[in-house]
Amino acid sequence: MATTDGIVRNALGDLDARLDHWKQTLVDLCRIPSISAPGFPPEEVRRSAQAVAQILRDAGVEHVEVLEIPGVHPYVYGEWLHRPGGPTVLLYGHHDVMPPGRAEKWLSPAFEPTERDGRLYGRGTADDKGGVMAHVAAVGSYLRVAKTLPLNVKFIIEGEEEIGSRNLDRFLEQYRAKMAADFIVLTDTRNYDVGHPALTYQLRGICQVDVEVQGLHQPLHSGLSGPVPDPVQILCAMIAGLRKQNGALNVPGLYAKVARPGAKQLARIRKLPLSEAKFKKDSGMLPGVRLWGESQFSLFERMWTRPALTVIALEARPFLSSSNQIIEAARARLSLRTVPGMDAREAGPAHREEAHHQAALRREGNRDDQGHHAVVDHRPRGAGLRGRAQCPQGGLRQGDGHGRLGRHHRLRAAVRRSPQGRALHPYGRRRSQHPGPLGEREPPPGRLGEGDALDHPPLRRARAPAAAVARRRSRGSCVR
Ligand SMILES: [Zn+2]
Repeated sequence: MATTDGIVRNALGDLDARLDHWKQTLVDLCRIPSISAPGFPPEEVRRSAQAVAQILRDAGVEHVEVLEIPGVHPYVYGEWLHRPGGPTVLLYGHHDVMPPGRAEKWLSPAFEPTERDGRLYGRGTADDKGGVMAHVAAVGSYLRVAKTLPLNVKFIIEGEEEIGSRNLDRFLEQYRAKMAADFIVLTDTRNYDVGHPALTYQLRGICQVDVEVQGLHQPLHSGLSGPVPDPVQILCAMIAGLRKQNGALNVPGLYAKVARPGAKQLARIRKLPLSEAKFKKDSGMLPGVRLWGESQFSLFERMWTRPALTVIALEARPFLSSSNQIIEAARARLSLRTVPGMDAREAGPAHREEAHHQAALRREGNRDDQGHHAVVDHRPRGAGLRGRAQCPQGGLRQGDGHGRLGRHHRLRAAVRRSPQGRALHPYGRRRSQHPGPLGEREPPPGRLGEGDALDHPPLRRARAPAAAVARRRSRGSCVR
């Protein structure tokens, strides 16, 4: 009987020997455009689920099935449970992908994985079909070599991760027994660098807010500009006001509970090799562009331990259909990265404030004292950004506690934020419930400015023990 070390060595040898096979399997899987976002064909996500199920079967995983909930992109489940009394690991990944985004930003087609300089470029090659394949290949090679596994293994490959795992709660309720495990390993995280395996043990959370500023009933000829407010400029000023000159966020109370990492964690972070120049290059920053954020914190501390804000969508009027007008409304989707200490459940005061506001608005017949519409719609469970969405013109205030909202402008905010520490559901999105004057146009959830450079795993051979194969990925991450 070979020792465990011997089995692992042989399994790694098998992985190396069959790397081309696994690579080709990944390429074939990535050719399926399994985009879970609305507006893309759901049949492709189903096709991808079936392909993943077959890959699991071929690797020796048992009782593989495509799990369904009506109206939900399918999950894939499989297991190997021949270690009675032994621990059970649940290996999580997802087979759905983001939309390809702008075609001209890709050097090769999004759904035709292409190898360049030892990396595979294509949508899903890293996030997360590459991660799924790392798990499957590890289990498959171990089974081939040893005809057994050192512990019980379950796979769950989700089909709607990229749209915020909207039905995960329902799924867990329905398939609770299948999900029972002693621990979970996710492959949907970042790897530090080629040759530097990484284990992700903490991720920032996310809180998204949609804000709409409306100042006019209809577009107006720009000849009237001057006295007539421009909602686009107002929105831009509001957003600009969320950031201080020194790089910190200008949101009162935001940092009050932000936990500082412990001395041991900081020491580990500071020990990691770091080249700002390489980071900038890998991130696609243009020459001369400076790093952002709080300069008193290191780059990794800023990225891993500090809250941060991104405008992930900004909508006014496209160049193509623009005309010489002040447009009536503008919308933005703001995304706040949260860190330990920031408590997503602290929405109580916001609820009370909202109730207060709504009561005040009812009293005022939904019009403010100047006769303008004033509507606020905070989705339940909090507004991480509330209290600072302030218009410098003094017109728009959110949460001033006096029931005066949206003077001159209309504000809509749809908020969804996630508690820290939900292993399988670290974030979510909620689309605006209102069509709005710009029409209901859910922006495609593709990451703005994104190209394939953010989505590629290195093709180095796995060197980690089979049961602990970490995600091999140098850059890019999901929206988490
Ligand atoms: Zn992912």
